[in-house]
This record gives sequence, structure tokens and C-alpha cells, in this order.
Amino acid sequence: MAILKLYEYPHPVLKKKAEKVAEVNDEIRKFLDDMLETMYASNGCGLAAPQVGVSKRVVVIDIAHEGEEANPIYMVNPVIIWKSEETEICEEGCLSVPGQRAEVERPAMVRVEYLDYNGKKQELLAEDFLAVAVQHELDHLEGVLYIDKISRLKRQMLLKKLEKFRKEKA
Ligand code: ZN
Repeated sequence: MAILKLYEYPHPVLKKKAEKVAEVNDEIRKFLDDMLETMYASNGCGLAAPQVGVSKRVVVIDIAHEGEEANPIYMVNPVIIWKSEETEICEEGCLSVPGQRAEVERPAMVRVEYLDYNGKKQELLAEDFLAVAVQHELDHLEGVLYIDKISRLKRQMLLKKLEKFRKEKA
């Protein structure tokens, strides 16, 4: 396995609509392994392929807390087939927008269809934080970041803080 390079805002790959995967083969499985390792190494709970510079419809998620057993979910070509009308507001962060967080409102529950690690079709009803993670990662496949879903004023403030964060880190 290998740790992949993370692409950060405003890299254009994050704005691109990702392409469907034709087949879940060994090459894709190796990529899923690398993505999971990269996500764990960065303490993330979700990672979408565009975040490692690959414009493909591939996502990994693991919302297990520290100290809990790992519980990775691999999703290839995921599609949300149902969203609840009820919404919830949750604070989100993103490995592509390091050091920042903001509250985002989304449907509280979603049903998602995808191909798993073995290329088998799966369906998952996600609620609570898993619903947030699924929607956040699937947005990446459409070239959408969570900061696109907050008000312009909040986004401007957040991007200023991001700039400051990067300068302090440099
Ligand atoms: Zn993200």
C-alpha cells in the first residue's frame, strides 16, 4: 500500500465531475487500499478519488472513532437513490481544506447504491454522521466541496482562515 498525495483547494481536479469506473478489478482494489491508507494516515473519516488527483467515482469511508475497530466502506460508482426530507446541520471538515470546519445542512438520511470492494452491488441506508460522510464524499465526485454549500460570507471568512493556516504551517 502507499500513501497518496492529497490535492487541496483550489486545485482544479477538485472541481471536475469524476468518471464512472468500468470494472472493479485488481487495479481499482489496489487504489481503494491506497486511498484507505491515505485517509487513515491523515486522520480523515472519508476520502474521494479526486482528493488524490484521480477523477474517478471511487470513495472510502470509515467513521469508526479512535480506539474502535476499523470499519471501512469502499464505494465504487456510488449513487444516492433516496434522500430524507428531514435535514440536519453538522460541522464538517475536509482533507482538501485543511484545518477548517463549518456547519452544513444536508438531508438527515440517504440511501446509496454502489459497488463494493469485490464489485458486488450494495445498498446502504445511512443516517447520522454516516449520512453526512456519504453526502460529503459523493459531492466530491461532482466537483463540489462543502464550502460551496455555505453562505458566501462564511466561505470568504473560511478561505481567509485557510490562507492564514497555510502560512503558519509553511
Ligand atoms: Zn472532503
